[in-house]
This record gives sequence, C-alpha cells and structure tokens, in this order.
Amino acid sequence: MRTRAVQVLQLEADLRRALKRREFELHYQPIVCLADNRLAGFEALIRWRKSDGTLVPPADFIPLCEETDMILPIGDWVLNEACAQLSTWLGRYPRTNMQISVNLSVRQLRQKDLLFRVRDALDSRRLPPERLKLEITESAVMDNADLSSAILNELNAMQISLSIDDFGTGYSSLNYLRRLPVNTLKIDQSFVRGITNDRKQAGIVESTIILAHKLGMDVIAEGVETHEQARQLRSFNAEYGQGYLFARPLQAGDAEQLLAG
Ligand code: C2E
Ligand code: MG
Ligand code: MG
Repeated sequence: MRTRAVQVLQLEADLRRALKRREFELHYQPIVCLADNRLAGFEALIRWRKSDGTLVPPADFIPLCEETDMILPIGDWVLNEACAQLSTWLGRYPRTNMQISVNLSVRQLRQKDLLFRVRDALDSRRLPPERLKLEITESAVMDNADLSSAILNELNAMQISLSIDDFGTGYSSLNYLRRLPVNTLKIDQSFVRGITNDRKQAGIVESTIILAHKLGMDVIAEGVETHEQARQLRSFNAEYGQGYLFARPLQAGDAEQLLAG
C-alpha cells in the first residue's frame, strides 16, 4: 500500500509538471457515417508526450487522475484545447458541419463550476455550442444518477450535444436512460468485436441499436476494425462508426487533411 501511495504521489507530481511544460497533446479519431463513409466528427483523445519522446496512452494516467483532483486541471486543458482546435478548423473550413467530442470524467461532472467552464471555453472562441459533444461513460452517468441528470439537462439546455460512452459495460436503468437528454449512445468496442462471429453478441448490438432509436438517440459503434463489422452494423442501421478500419486517432495536422479532402 505504501509503495502504491508513493507511486501515486510521484505520478501526480509528474503530471503537474507535464501540464506546466505543455506535454499533453490531443489526438483526433474520426467518427464516420456508416452509410457513405463521410466524416461526422472527431473524438479528442489525450496523450502525454514525455520529454524523452515516449507517448503515454491515457489508460496509464487518466484512471489515476480520476482518483484525485488531478483530472480537473487536465480535463479543463482538454476542453480548452479541443475548443481551440475546433475554432481553428471552423475558421479554415467554415462549411464543415463536424462536431468535436470530448470525454468528461465523473469528477468533472461533480465540479461546481463545470457549466461555467464549458460555457467559457465555447464563448471565449465564439463557438456554436452544438459543435461540441461531451462523452460521459455509462457507469459515470448511472452511478451518479441524480447529479448527472441535473447537469446533463443544463448542458442540453445550452445546446451542447451529449453521448453515453462505453454503453453496455455498466448497468443502465432503462427508466432513467429514457429521461436523459442524450443524443448518442456509443456501443462499447467489446460488443462490436464479436458481432460477426457470435450471434448473441450480434443480438445484443442489434437490440441496443433498436433501443437507442426508440429512445430518440443515434448510435456510434466503437472499435470497428473490419469491413465485415461495418457491413453488419450498417445492416443494423447504426448511424456512425469509429475504429481502426476508418482511422486511428490522428495528430491534429493529419486529422485536418480529412477536413480538407
Ligand atoms: P474511449 O473514450 O472509449 O475512447 C476510445 C478508445 O478506443 C481510444 O483509446 C481509441 O484509441 C480506442 N480505439 C478506437 N478505435 C479502436 C479500434 O478499432 N480498436 C481498438 N482496439 N481500440 C480502438 P485511447 O485513446 O487509448 O483512450 C482510452 C480511454 O481513455 C478513452 O476511452 C477514455 O475513456 C479515456 N480518455 C482518453 N482521453 C481522455 C480525456 O481527455 N479525458 C478523459 N476523462 N478520459 C480520456
Ligand atoms: Mg470516449
Ligand atoms: Mg468508449
């Protein structure tokens, strides 16, 4: 326990320094319309570029940040960086109607001034709020039902779009899901992986898509890696896909090429 405590403190100090030294970067993974492969938007995904050049994936530091308040300054940086990038892209490609999705963690949801921070990130760049989409995991939403519902309603009132991330990995109350002002369900990649060779997995995915549509939500299938999966998802009427089949998370410059093309 002691070793872990020391590791946690060390990592926290490293992350604070990383923030000061601007060592974080956002990569952007395309979200595409399954019907015609058109670009619908990007999900912003954080990476930590250490001074020695190594790129640290979020799984190695975000969960720990979420245990402490470190996620607050980092989450704030992500939100502002994504908005700055969106503003640049809208300036260069004013006719695009893409959205940028940003992941929000539970602690950010609980942050008293979250709404103010989000509004400020948008307003300071005169961004239309409907271009920003916030992703909250199913477990974050469901484990904090009353709080989430209040905040999601306020974000929705601000015209910001909302997605439930990693859907299927937590425990949703359907009664509660029905009342949430959510635009999009993101079906977790663990379900998508099996759809072409496991009839039950396919059944779960198809039923989830029907459920989403009945609740007035659209669907993004995560982790699409093969043409066969994409074909199956299309036959289930899933609107959007995200995964290595279309593109890996890209550095901003490479993502921009897709806007230009
Ligand atoms: P997520 O939000 O569900 O993001 C999707 C993850 O799936 C990304 O991993 C992405 O690279 C990966 N992925 C996309 N397509 C495929 C595919 O076809 N196959 C496979 N095997 N994986 C695919 P990444 O970038 O490592 O992020 C992992 C998680 O870290 C994210 O899951 C999210 O929960 C968290 N995360 C990333 N950036 C942020 C952030 O800025 N804030 C917060 N709070 N969490 C973040
Ligand atoms: Mg996400
Ligand atoms: Mg996900």
